[in-house]
Amino acid sequence: MARVGLIGHDFRYEVFQILNLFYEKEEIQFSKDNYDIESILNEEQVLFKIGEITEKEYVDKNDIKSIKNSLKRTALKALSKYFNKNIPWGILVGIRPTKIVHELKKRGDSLAEIKKHLIDYYLLNEDKANLTIEVAENESKFLSVVQNKVSLYVGIPFCPTRCVYCSFASNSIYSNEKLVETYVDTLLKEFDSILRYLKSHNISIDTLYFGGGTPSSLSAEQIDRLLNRVSSYVNLNSLREFTFEAGRPDSIDENKLKLLKDYGVTRISINPQTMNEETLVKIGRRHSTKDIIDKFNLAREIGFDNINMDIIVGLPDENLGSINKTMEALKKLSPESITIHTMAIKRASILNEIEYKNKTDNIVSMYNYAANCCRDMGMIPYYMYRQKNMVSPLENVGYSKRGKECIYNIQMIAENISIVSLGADAITKIVYNEENRIERVANVKDVREYINRIDEMVQKKIEALDDVFAK
Ligand code: SF4
Repeated sequence: MARVGLIGHDFRYEVFQILNLFYEKEEIQFSKDNYDIESILNEEQVLFKIGEITEKEYVDKNDIKSIKNSLKRTALKALSKYFNKNIPWGILVGIRPTKIVHELKKRGDSLAEIKKHLIDYYLLNEDKANLTIEVAENESKFLSVVQNKVSLYVGIPFCPTRCVYCSFASNSIYSNEKLVETYVDTLLKEFDSILRYLKSHNISIDTLYFGGGTPSSLSAEQIDRLLNRVSSYVNLNSLREFTFEAGRPDSIDENKLKLLKDYGVTRISINPQTMNEETLVKIGRRHSTKDIIDKFNLAREIGFDNINMDIIVGLPDENLGSINKTMEALKKLSPESITIHTMAIKRASILNEIEYKNKTDNIVSMYNYAANCCRDMGMIPYYMYRQKNMVSPLENVGYSKRGKECIYNIQMIAENISIVSLGADAITKIVYNEENRIERVANVKDVREYINRIDEMVQKKIEALDDVFAK
């Protein structure tokens, strides 16, 4: 139990963020008079005391941002010593580390200065500082701001089965046939309103991304209807990139893949997560590793030359040997990109419900092994994000061969272009470049709610778009 006293300040959230790297949320208690850990702000100093350990820094009392970071730094340094625990990402708890690099570059800092800042100010380990800079450099060529362009996201919240770690809006495609049909009709309605709006305001589409869920779990006829409607508003051949997630091998066949190719899809995802049969069963997938290989080869035969494969490090009972097996299998397939996810346990997942904790101690070695394999395959890290509740405080990184980077993924994290999102749980982000701010407009998560309230959501989105594009 961590009983914490805040003395001379009330920046509870900042102190909590760091404590949470060492304690379970439920173990942290803030108290005014009964505490054994102290976070102190006095006239000129910030101090953090735990046991025999005290960390302190001098601060300018008028600079709130720097006080907050000092509170975090002193807490992290003291707790790391107390628990003898290294926190690779230091006090950086945000999900977009590369944004800091871009800001410092804009200010004129050299890469050496940026690295020093990441290590000294944010307390990143050197390898994380290097990775952040490398990703920022690799993604920077995709970040130019283009006027009157948006990227488009379409969400399909259905999957063949629900994976045990899933926290997305995913519904079974099999037990909801009628609902799926109505969902497709509603999506067509949203296409008509929003895509017509974009066309009539001369707003062109930069990249198009069908995600989910598993979009390829729709029937070929439903996919055809959706893509046909999009193509009546958007020239699909002029897109800079067109991704359609075909994540689950049990959701794709020759017919669907050919259809996607005919509509000009340039990039697909076939996501094994693991190439270990036993783990696939444990995580609730009803397909084999052979299915993954067969569908990958089929996609190649049909002509897909940009295939991504997602893997997850930290799945139940996996160890270094399991990751080795997964990476060896992927090497043989030779996809253009591999996205390495670190197991995140979120509240909405079944895993969390059964209070699963990965017992694996060597998750960092597993993660590093997978990353090194990607580099051996000639890939570079090109996009990265972090999320809360990870098994280990690591990151998710997209590795790809040069020229095969997913531009939409970069844009989604960098937030350099507005992303108009359609479908249940799809979040539109309107970027106000000059004001350096983002407005979010969220569609409701629940599929039935989405269907019932589509007019209201379309209206809200058009109002938000009007604010930027109708001036
Ligand atoms: S494929 Fe993705 S969206 Fe579907 S259930 Fe699994 S984790 Fe969730």
